Amino acid sequence: MASVKAKAYINGKWVAGRGGVFPVHNPATGEEIMKIAECTKEDVQDAIDAASSAFESYKKWTPSQRAALLMKIHDLMDQKKEELATLLTTEQGKPKVEAMGEIQFSLTFLTWFAEETRRMYGETVPTSVKNKRFITVRQPAGVAACITPWNFPVAMIARKVGAALAAGCTAVLKPAEDTPLNSLFFAQLCEEAGVPAGVVNVVTCSRDRVQEVGALLCDSHKVKVVSFTGSTAVGQWLYSRCGPTVKKLALELGGDAPFIVFPSAKLDQAVKDAMFIKFLNCGQVCVSANRVYVHESIHDEFVSKVKQAMMYNIKQGNGLSNTFNQGPLVNKKQHERCTALVRDAVSNGATIEYQAQKGDGDLFFPATILTGVTKKNPIAQQEIFGPVFSVLKFKTEEEVIKCANDTERGLSGYFYTEDIAQAWRVSEAMEVGMAGINAICIDTAETPFGGVKMSGLGKEGSRHALDDFTNDKTICWGNL
Ligand code: ADP
Repeated sequence: MASVKAKAYINGKWVAGRGGVFPVHNPATGEEIMKIAECTKEDVQDAIDAASSAFESYKKWTPSQRAALLMKIHDLMDQKKEELATLLTTEQGKPKVEAMGEIQFSLTFLTWFAEETRRMYGETVPTSVKNKRFITVRQPAGVAACITPWNFPVAMIARKVGAALAAGCTAVLKPAEDTPLNSLFFAQLCEEAGVPAGVVNVVTCSRDRVQEVGALLCDSHKVKVVSFTGSTAVGQWLYSRCGPTVKKLALELGGDAPFIVFPSAKLDQAVKDAMFIKFLNCGQVCVSANRVYVHESIHDEFVSKVKQAMMYNIKQGNGLSNTFNQGPLVNKKQHERCTALVRDAVSNGATIEYQAQKGDGDLFFPATILTGVTKKNPIAQQEIFGPVFSVLKFKTEEEVIKCANDTERGLSGYFYTEDIAQAWRVSEAMEVGMAGINAICIDTAETPFGGVKMSGLGKEGSRHALDDFTNDKTICWGNL
């Protein structure tokens, strides 16, 4: 496995945390991997100060200089992807092949943002005042705090820090306490790539300190952007905490994706895609199929095909071995949540149709398919974030759209149909930021990723991603 330094990376130096150390565990085995820096508020303040003074020179870099820097990080990550994938599987639990997929996905963002540096165009605005001319320029916002989650820790760093660096911002990265090692690996890549001191800083801390660290990032006037991916509860807290400093805020929060199978759907394709998007990363994905709605005329056939696929295809175990294609849940909290959700679903009338063989270890949760779920069942009202298929029956398009939209979250949604008029209607009616018509995995570096309602604010990826990290300035030239 790759070796990473057990220290925080601040102002181009590896420093011990003033709070000592905290342990990181392998969720598949329960073993401690290593102890790393427990940063305190004071350490984070050092990182903010370093990022703030580095911004004064980094903001003057030309687009092509920034592009070259991003491509250096990209090339180093590409060279070391095998090591990084092993590290990711060890601390996160996802199978190695999925870890490798995440790294490939991350590389696409680094390339995309390197390219985007050259496209930070302003506008020439046709004048309405005779002796004046107007233009706009896009300028980097300043220090960006990037707070990342544990489910796609490498990709979220690439998506946030990549966008920040492309825009000309400097970054303070705070990774999730369950999966911080890959962020230290990323810091090593930055060091090797020649990222100037203070341009990228990585501060790690345990759950005990996350609130004080988060509060400092929000309260500091030096931090101009907070970009966060994680739970809705923490996103709401950050939103209100950023009010007093009127910060730019990008939030990617929880999803509640409906996955609808209409009678005309190509059933085998729908089954295959539902399996993939449900069980990717053991269900711990914000764009996972959270509520699977199947038309009553094909419900039993769909359920039986999913059951068959689960019986033959799911092998749970330590993701470092090629034998297994599903890992554990990331921590005890997630395991307890999933256990309670399935228990409550059953006591509210759902049936466990099938459970696959569980992996050997405390954090493994058996892949499960539940039928007979109704919209009142608690499992139909929460983000599952685990390997549990929750199947609901429907009769009409109108009814299913109403149910699908009956949630305060709106990240992604998927539906399967061969009826072209229905495809158009449903994609317009779904209250989501991203809709898949006979398609899953609809996020790419080129396309905007983001939710509506309580699923978040702003877009990541795409040409819109730099909006959160830049300010448009209007310049007026008068007295002509
Ligand atoms: P989960 O409940 O799935 O762990 P969280 O939203 O708690 O999701 O975590 C996502 C990220 O947010 C992690 O990096 C975590 O450390 C961080 N985080 C949690 N609470 C706060 C907070 N109060 N301020 C800043 N970051 C936080």
